Amino acid sequence: MAFVITGPCETEKAGECVTVCPVDCIEEGQDQFYINPDICIDCGACKAVCPVDAIEEEYDLTPEQETYLEKAEKYFGI
Ligand code: SF4
Ligand code: SF4
Repeated sequence: MAFVITGPCETEKAGECVTVCPVDCIEEGQDQFYINPDICIDCGACKAVCPVDAIEEEYDLTPEQETYLEKAEKYFGI
């Protein structure tokens, strides 16, 4: 399981999450930031600091938000 960055990041993209991630697994993509699901240790630190509540736990994703996990996997070549 991992945390996943969803739609609201596409307009905010401030990067607060990157500075708090203890395993440095968040990267800035062209349209949003992405969490590497193979490295994320599920600590939740990023979710706590996101100003637009864009970060969700994988098991909490709605069917519409599942596409953001697929986008992250594609970004990291997983
Ligand atoms: S803190 Fe939220 S809005 Fe900012 S880059 Fe991270 S996911 Fe995107
Ligand atoms: S849950 Fe923790 S390890 Fe995973 S991306 Fe967020 S800050 Fe990094």
